[in-house]
Amino acid sequence: MNVLVINAGSSSLKYQLFDMDTKKVLAKGLCERIGIDGRLTHQSPFKDEKYKENVPMKDHADAIRAVIDILIDKEWGAISSMDKIDAVGHRVVHGGEFFADSVVITDDVIKAIEACIPLAPLHNVPNLTGISACKEVMGDNVPQIAVFDTAFHQTMDPVEYMYAIPYEYYEKYKIRRYGFHGTSHKYVSAQAAEMMGRPLEELKLITCHLGNGSSITAINKGKSMDTSMGFTPLDGLPMGTRAGNIDPAIISFLCENEGKTAEEVINILNKKSGMLGISGVSSDFRDLDAAINEGDERAKLAKNMFVNSVKKIIGSYVAEMGGVDAIIFTAGVGENDRSVRWDVCEHMEYLGIKIDPEKNKYRGRQMDISIDWARVRVFVIPTNEELVIAEDTKKLAEPLLKK
Ligand code: AMP
Repeated sequence: MNVLVINAGSSSLKYQLFDMDTKKVLAKGLCERIGIDGRLTHQSPFKDEKYKENVPMKDHADAIRAVIDILIDKEWGAISSMDKIDAVGHRVVHGGEFFADSVVITDDVIKAIEACIPLAPLHNVPNLTGISACKEVMGDNVPQIAVFDTAFHQTMDPVEYMYAIPYEYYEKYKIRRYGFHGTSHKYVSAQAAEMMGRPLEELKLITCHLGNGSSITAINKGKSMDTSMGFTPLDGLPMGTRAGNIDPAIISFLCENEGKTAEEVINILNKKSGMLGISGVSSDFRDLDAAINEGDERAKLAKNMFVNSVKKIIGSYVAEMGGVDAIIFTAGVGENDRSVRWDVCEHMEYLGIKIDPEKNKYRGRQMDISIDWARVRVFVIPTNEELVIAEDTKKLAEPLLKK
């Protein structure tokens, strides 16, 4: 069974084609500058070089047509015709309180995703555009599945997801913590249980998705118990360009003193804060490391603030779950930056956490980096959100295809 995974943004669209019998990626790529001019980058696992061409894309439907054309191309493609795509899985960012799991997309599902637009306008609108583009190009007979970033966290209790503001705002606007990166937290927690040879339902895990956007989740017995991102992805840790948790009074203070609207300040908190805002150097940890090596004090401060926040959240989740069996590092920073992993886990021996500096040398591969006697395992697990989307799509589409 072949599954096409689509992650649609406002002017970009990422895709991966999976053979779900082998779970292998047959091809993947990226459409950019949709609605402007159009550019396609495509990769086949059987070729070293990439296909990079300007392809006119006036809208997302044109982008999907370009994707299908390259997927069936004799030289670069992976399948003989569009019919060989059995189902499509879409990443959808916000499922609100409607979706605690992935679903087959129907008219009612589309209405519910539309109802979540106010919660994530920058994401849900292009996600819906991607869904309608696939329908337009591939027709109604290919099942389409929605996999939500928020769904995994729907197991949280009100005590974890409510904000202490007047209750009526929850009732009126559904203002609460939702959490994001759900597919990533779900994937790495399942991998960790497998590495430990124990059922997920027995384990207390803390999954640290540390990338350009970062979030940490407490996973108790396989269920998301608490997570650091909130109503939007702005909450929690300081990130590449996002501020993370701040005193909300700062917003009105800046509006008044800088003559800005609340929207402009939120834009600054999303795009000009975090590692970039503190260091003044970059949002990228590789650039921060280079600057730190040259003695840049603000780059050092930014990284120390990040590490300290990760530590604080881990500590609070250990307290909340009453212990921890494993800590997992994933995403760009978690998989690659050994100094972040080391600094986060330093001085945590009293909790049974101790990293082996030799094992921690490596990067980008699945490994246990804790010293042998440590009570708590520390894992690096490269995330694979696309595979989770493809697996959920297979599970939900298969019964429909058999009918
Ligand atoms: P992601 O959002 O998961 O794609 O992560 C992207 C971020 O990972 C980049 O902005 C970098 O900060 C970080 N990153 C990627 N590779 C490395 C590396 N080799 N060392 C340190 N940080 C890295």
